[in-house]
Amino acid sequence: MIPPIANRFVAGESPAEALDHVRTVNQRNVNVIVNLLGEHYDDRAPASDDAAEYRSLVEDIANADLDACISVKPSQLGLDLGEDVFREELEGIVATAADRGVFVWIDMEDHTTTDATLDAYEELAREYYGGEDSDDSQSSSDPWADGGVGVCVQANLKRTREDVERLADVPGKVRFVKGAYDEPADVAYTDTQRVNEEYEALLEYAFEHFEDGVAVGSHDPAMIERAIELHEEYGTGFEVQMLMGVREDAQYDLAEEHEVWQYVPYGGRWKSYFYRRVMERKENLWFALRAIVGR
Ligand code: FAD
Repeated sequence: MIPPIANRFVAGESPAEALDHVRTVNQRNVNVIVNLLGEHYDDRAPASDDAAEYRSLVEDIANADLDACISVKPSQLGLDLGEDVFREELEGIVATAADRGVFVWIDMEDHTTTDATLDAYEELAREYYGGEDSDDSQSSSDPWADGGVGVCVQANLKRTREDVERLADVPGKVRFVKGAYDEPADVAYTDTQRVNEEYEALLEYAFEHFEDGVAVGSHDPAMIERAIELHEEYGTGFEVQMLMGVREDAQYDLAEEHEVWQYVPYGGRWKSYFYRRVMERKENLWFALRAIVGR
C-alpha cells in the first residue's frame, strides 16, 4: 500500500486503486490519463509485463466506460533494449486500444530517444488512424471519441519547432510540455525564460495548424491563459493536462469550462516518481510532511 505521504501524487500500487481514483476524478468532470510507473528496463520481462498490464488496463477502461486513457514511456516498453522491442510492445498496446476505442499517449523521455519515439508515433498513427474509416469518425465533434494516439514534445529542445512542423499532418494528437529532463546546452535551451518563449511560440503554431486539437501539458497559469486566448482566436479545440496532486483545485475549476485531463501515475515503482515531485517544489515537500503529521 502507498503510504499517506505519497498518495497525493500516486493513485496506488494496483490497477484497481488507479481505476478507483479515475472514478472519483471523473465525477468532477475531469478525465484521466493513467500511467503505470516504470522506466529504463534492461531486461525484456518487465517491459512485456508492463505492456500486458497496459493492455488489461485498456480493457478495464473500455468495459467500465471510464473517461480515461493511458500514457506509456518508451524506455518502459524496452527502448533501451532496442527500437524493435519498443515498437513491438507499443504496437501490441495500440492495437488493443484501437480495438477498444481507448486513447494511447506516448510520453517523451530525454533527447536521445526523440527520433525513435516520434518515428514510432508517426507510423502507428498513420497505420491505425490514417485510413478512410477513421477520417469519417474524425469528422464528429470529438475527433478522438473512438481512440487515437498522441505524443509529447518538449519546448526546451531546440529541434522541437521543426518536429512540430513535421507532426502537423500526422493523424494524432500532440501534448506540449516545457521538458522535464536535464539536457545539454547544445541540444536544449537551459534558460527558463527562453523555454517559456519557445513554449508560447509552439502553442501559437499548434493552434494555427493542428486542426484536431492541442494538448497543453502545463500547470503554468500564464500558458493556460495563452491557450484559451489562442483557442478563441483560431477556434482550435484544446485540452489542459496536469499531474495528480498539482493545482488540483485549478483543474476542477478549469473543467467547468474546458476539457481537463489529470495524469495519474500508479504502481509498485512509485518511490522515485514521488521523490521527483517532492524535490521539484518546496510546497510539495510541505504537503508531504503534513501528510505524515496527519494535518
Ligand atoms: P513550471 O514552468 O514548472 O512553472 C510555471 C508556473 O506554473 C509556476 O510559476 C506556478 O505558477 C505553476 N506551477 C508549476 N508547478 C506547480 C506546482 N507544483 N504547484 C503549484 N503551481 C505550480 N515532461 C517530459 O519531458 N516528458 C513528458 O512526457 C511529460 N509529460 C507530462 C505530462 C503532463 C500531464 C504534465 C503536466 C507534465 C508533463 N511533463 C513531461 C513535465 C513538463 O515537461 C514540466 O517539467 C512540468 O510540467 C513543469 O512545467 P510547467 O509548465 O507545469 O510549469
